[in-house]
Amino acid sequence: KNSAAEGPELAEPYLREVLGTAGLAVEYVRAEGNTLYRRGEDGGEIPVADFAGGYGSVLLGHNHPDLVACARELLDAGTPVHAQFSRHPYANRLAAELNRIVHRELGSTEPYFAIFANTGAEAVEAAVKHAELDRVLRIAALREELERSADRARAAVAAGEAELPARVRTRFGIPTGAGTAAALAELTARLTAENTARLNRPPLFLALEGGFHGKLGLSVQLTHNAAYRTPFQALAAQARFVPRDRPEVLKEIHAQERGVVHALEVTDGHVDVMEREFPVFCAFLVEPIQGEGGIRVLGAEFAEAIQQFCAETDVPLIVDEIQSGMGRTGTLLASAQTGLVGDYYTLAKTLGGGLAKTSVMLVREARYRREFEIVHSSTFAKDSFSCTIALKVLELLEADGGAGYRRAVERGAALRAVLESVRADFPEVVKEVRGKGLMLGLEFHDQSGSASESVRSLAVSGLFGYFLAGHLLHVHGVRTFPTASAVETLRFEPSVQVSDEEIAQLEAGLRDVCRLLRDGDGTRLAGA
Ligand code: PMP
Repeated sequence: KNSAAEGPELAEPYLREVLGTAGLAVEYVRAEGNTLYRRGEDGGEIPVADFAGGYGSVLLGHNHPDLVACARELLDAGTPVHAQFSRHPYANRLAAELNRIVHRELGSTEPYFAIFANTGAEAVEAAVKHAELDRVLRIAALREELERSADRARAAVAAGEAELPARVRTRFGIPTGAGTAAALAELTARLTAENTARLNRPPLFLALEGGFHGKLGLSVQLTHNAAYRTPFQALAAQARFVPRDRPEVLKEIHAQERGVVHALEVTDGHVDVMEREFPVFCAFLVEPIQGEGGIRVLGAEFAEAIQQFCAETDVPLIVDEIQSGMGRTGTLLASAQTGLVGDYYTLAKTLGGGLAKTSVMLVREARYRREFEIVHSSTFAKDSFSCTIALKVLELLEADGGAGYRRAVERGAALRAVLESVRADFPEVVKEVRGKGLMLGLEFHDQSGSASESVRSLAVSGLFGYFLAGHLLHVHGVRTFPTASAVETLRFEPSVQVSDEEIAQLEAGLRDVCRLLRDGDGTRLAGA
C-alpha cells in the first residue's frame, strides 16, 4: 500500500492490487547479474534469484558491467542521442552485424533491411505494416494489369478481331442479342465493380493458436489470447488462428479465404474471362518457440508445412523472435535451428541489453519496399544510445567464438535437468517440461479436480501460476512468472549468469510447491 505521504496511487493501482493478492507487489531497488534486490519490511535489501529475467530482456544479466560502461561512455561523451532524420552510422553498423550473424546462421547471403523501433509490439507492427504496404502495392499493380487487359479486349473488338462468345455472355448474364462492343462494355463495367469490391477486402492475417505478438492496436489482433484481443477487435484487421500441429487446416483456410478477381483475355479471336488470384493474406506470424502461450517449441514438421504453405501461396512469413531470439536458445535466431526461414524477423528484449528500449524488424531484400522508409518513423527509434548498446550486446554474445551462445545452452541444460528431476519425482503434479536453452517452461497438471478445497480454489482463480510465483518469491527467494496466456505453466528465462546455487534454490522451491499441491495444502500457497 502507498503511504499517505506518497499521495494517491495513480499508476495502475488495480494491477498492483491484483499482484498483491498473490504476494507479487514487491519493490525492487537494485539489480546485478542474475539477482534482483527487493525492499524488505525493515528497509533492507533481500536478494531474489531472477528466473523471469525481465520477461526475456536480460539474457546477459542485469546491469552487465560492459553494457553499463558503454552507456556511461556514451553519456560522458555527450553523444547526441536523438537526431532523427540524419545519417545514423551506428544503426547501419548494427544492421550490418545483424546481417552477418543471420547469414551465418541461415547459410544465406540475401540482405535483410532493418527498420528500428522501440518495443517488441512496435517491431511487429512495423513488420505487419510493411507487409501491408507490399500487399497494397502488389494489388495496385494487379489493378493496372486488369485495366490493360480490358483495354486490349476493347481494342480487339473495335478492330473486329475478337468476338464475345455466347458462353461468356451467359455466364455473366449479358444479353446474347447485344452487339459485341456494347456487350463487352457492360461486361467490363460489371467485372470492374466486382473486382474493386473484392480487392478492397481488408487484409487477413494468419497466426497460431496460443501465439503472442504484442498488445498494440494491430499486434493484439494477432495475439490469440481472447481476453487481450476481443475487446479491441474493431480496431484492426483480423487473423485466422491455425491450431498447432494441424497444417491441414491451412489448406482449408486458404480455400475459404483466397481472393480471386476476373480478368479479360483475348485468345484465338475470343474474349474470355480468366480467374486471377490476388493477395488477401497480408502475413503469417509464427514464434519459433511460443513464449506467452506456454513455452511451446514449434515442431520441425509443422515448421516445414508452414514454410511450404507460405512459398506456395506467396504469403510473407514473419518469424517473431522477440522472446526466443538474441541467443537465448544458443543461436541469434531460435528458428535457424528448426530450418525455418522468414521473410521478416522481429527482435527486441535482450537487443537493448536490459538498459535501452529498442527493437528491430528485418525484411529480406526480395520483399523490401523502400517507400516504407518515407512513411514510417518514430521519434525515438534508431537512436545512438540504443544502437550502440545493441552492438555491444552482439559483441558480448559473439566474443570467444560465441561463448555467450554456448553459455545459454550449457546453463539451459543444467536448469532443464533440475526441472526434469522435479517432474520425475512429482508426476502427479507436473505435467511437462518444455523449451530450449534458457527458455524453459514447467506445466502443472490442471488442479481444478483436486481433492483439496484450497488447491481447487487456487486452480479456478485464474491466477494459479501467480500464487505459486508468490510462494516461490517469499519463501524461496526466487522470481518466476507463469506465461501470460497459459497460467499453469511457469516460465524460466534467467540470464546466462544464473549460478548452480540459484538453480538449486529454484529446485528446492519447486519441490516445496509440488509437495504442497500433492498434499492438498493450498492454504500455504495462497498465504504469500
Ligand atoms: N512478441 C513476442 C513473441 C513476445 O514474447 C512479446 C512480449 N512478451 C512481444 C511480441 C511484445 O513485446 P513488447 O512487450 O516489448 O511490446
